[in-house]
Amino acid sequence: SLKCGIVGLPNVGKSTLFNAITQAGAESANYPFCTIEPNVGVVTVPDNRLDKLTELVVPKKTVPTTFEFVDIAGLVKGASRGEGLGNKFLSHIREVDAIAQVVRCFIDDDITHVAGKVDPLNDIEVINLELVLADLESLERRQERLSSKLKSQDKQAKMEYQLIQRILDEALTQGKPARSISFTDEEMKLVRFFHLLTIKPIIYITNVGENDLIDLEENVFFQQVKSLAALENATVVPVSAKLESEIAELQGDEKQLFLEELGLEESGLDKLIRASYELLGLRTYFTAGVQEVRAWTVTADTKAPQAAGVIHTDFERGFIRAEVVSYQDLVTSGSMVQAKERGKVRLEGKEYVVQDGDIMHFRFNV
Ligand code: GDP
Repeated sequence: SLKCGIVGLPNVGKSTLFNAITQAGAESANYPFCTIEPNVGVVTVPDNRLDKLTELVVPKKTVPTTFEFVDIAGLVKGASRGEGLGNKFLSHIREVDAIAQVVRCFIDDDITHVAGKVDPLNDIEVINLELVLADLESLERRQERLSSKLKSQDKQAKMEYQLIQRILDEALTQGKPARSISFTDEEMKLVRFFHLLTIKPIIYITNVGENDLIDLEENVFFQQVKSLAALENATVVPVSAKLESEIAELQGDEKQLFLEELGLEESGLDKLIRASYELLGLRTYFTAGVQEVRAWTVTADTKAPQAAGVIHTDFERGFIRAEVVSYQDLVTSGSMVQAKERGKVRLEGKEYVVQDGDIMHFRFNV
């Protein structure tokens, strides 16, 4: 399943936020996985369409799709030089699909700041620099290994070598992340093999004071991060970690009421889940039967057999075809039977690219 790693300097509110995530996850833990590591928080992805489908189909149960957050605590200055537990943390980051960096934007004189004062731009730079340095080192090592092949006129090696040189020159040696370069599809195929940390999409989670949420324009630190993110093509999600930990203890209507009282439309956690989903280009498709209505996550451009494989590998292996109706067509028709009568249910084959909101029924050989 897809993972977003939470990083940040000490004392910025990571654990507070992560505890809110695991608490919220525990509330809705009707997913079939058993052992989850302590640093992994599984959250359900909020989706109004699932409620509507439940109304239409009246299944025995409804299962939302999930998303994982991984707590990667302890990334500090010097990590790329292997200081402290640095290397271990970098290797954790290597395994996630996106990075969410918590930055402190709240002022509280009682809570020590590692750098002595609240300065989100500096905090971001410290962490990004560690990631840049780690990439720099691994690319230089890769270049070294390639240099012996260059003599033998290996075309592939030459291309790779030059691409690495470009990433070094245009980004890393200037302290910029590899994601700031735009690569062609062809180049991207190669770049993936480099397993770079700074190519991963990033979200800045600005941890603001709970009173700042209503009027974020008032929080200068938030504004600074927002401007930086705009330049970097990164996403910003404002949260109050403290408030999130209170919200996470509430359920359903209670939670809704609490948010309304605060003048907020959704919790920071829901906002974060949505932003991660968008950032990773994720899509949701549904299966809807009387036993179970369920949401599933796939990446953009996933074809029908691979989408079936998310449910079970047998579904992918024995895939024959899929019956597909769009969410909108099903809701407008009022039922699956009606949708069929209106010719809204299509039969799709192996090459069909799953669209967000598709309701799918797979036919397969066992
Ligand atoms: P971590 O080291 O990044 O995991 O930070 P923690 O989550 O442990 O938070 C460090 C301290 O800051 C704790 O005492 C928290 O209670 C406090 N803290 C976290 N978030 C907020 C916040 O939004 N506002 C205020 N005032 N304090 C916070």
